Amino acid sequence: MVGFRAILLALCAIAVSNANFVDYSGHKVLTITPKSEAHLEFLHKLRNDYSVDLWNEPRYTNVPVMARLRPELINPVEGALGAQNIEYDVAFYDLQTVISSERAAMNAPSNLSHAGAFDFGKYNEYNEIVNLIESLAKDYPKIATLKTVGKSYENRPIYALAISSGNSENKPAIMMECGIHAREWSSVATGAYLVNKLITQYGKDDQITKLVDKYEINIIVESNPDGYVFTWTNDRLWRKTRSRSTIDWLGVCKGVDANRNFDVEHCGVGTSRKPCDEIFCGDRPFSESEARAIRDLMVALGSRLKAYFSIHAYSQLWMTPFGTTKKLPPNYDTLVRISR
Ligand SMILES: [Zn+2]
Repeated sequence: MVGFRAILLALCAIAVSNANFVDYSGHKVLTITPKSEAHLEFLHKLRNDYSVDLWNEPRYTNVPVMARLRPELINPVEGALGAQNIEYDVAFYDLQTVISSERAAMNAPSNLSHAGAFDFGKYNEYNEIVNLIESLAKDYPKIATLKTVGKSYENRPIYALAISSGNSENKPAIMMECGIHAREWSSVATGAYLVNKLITQYGKDDQITKLVDKYEINIIVESNPDGYVFTWTNDRLWRKTRSRSTIDWLGVCKGVDANRNFDVEHCGVGTSRKPCDEIFCGDRPFSESEARAIRDLMVALGSRLKAYFSIHAYSQLWMTPFGTTKKLPPNYDTLVRISR
């Protein structure tokens, strides 16, 4: 009987969360390949003037950009693309179908490896990620230290796992941050996989043992917990934080792109000052507690910090600085060598 009640409650919870879920029925996703500066300009215009959700940055010719079109924009945009001879393919005719089938797959256990309750063969909800991080720190206290580096807007802890053997006080540090864009689930999955691998394979795998002996590796698996939770409960495509509402011509909009909220060229290239845009940089640098948490860990690591990785789940690119100009930094060759 208790079991039945639990199932009934669970079903009610699913019904409630589905009612809040943003429906992307009829939304079409195109893969557009710009071949000239004018084509790139056209893509920027789609985003700036029509709030088209571009899934990657239109920066280079011949690098395809995916664009999600609301139903009312499909005909005019496809017409304009045809008129300007811009190449495109249809990635998804109906985005909701894709989201629904992903959701169904998440509800079934996978055949891949498990660590206790954690299933590495599928995407995991926020609580499961937190359980994994906390239990790794508890089960491997000699090499894993749990640090709370900040709190999200909705008061969830932002954790970093510091992974190192022995005394790490004077060791060179590496930092990695995952999940800053909430909808990029495979970034979080990558972080979860990495912390588990580095911690559980220490002493078993030579390469991992060498890394953990030499460096202190600091990984924030979930940098934007509020946004991540929201992608599971309300909107699969949520990208920003969930901070205070701002009123804009598109309505009431929440959140800031935490990855555009740092103080380097704040609100510069590839950002927007419009609160409803996906790349809204915020009213001021570090307005978001999620960006502050990352900054504070960097500052704490200080001169020990030798490498920084920001893991995203879009564009299939390895990127090195700078992000704001096409000019190369003086140590570009070193950066590429080390990245490789
Ligand atoms: Zn991203």
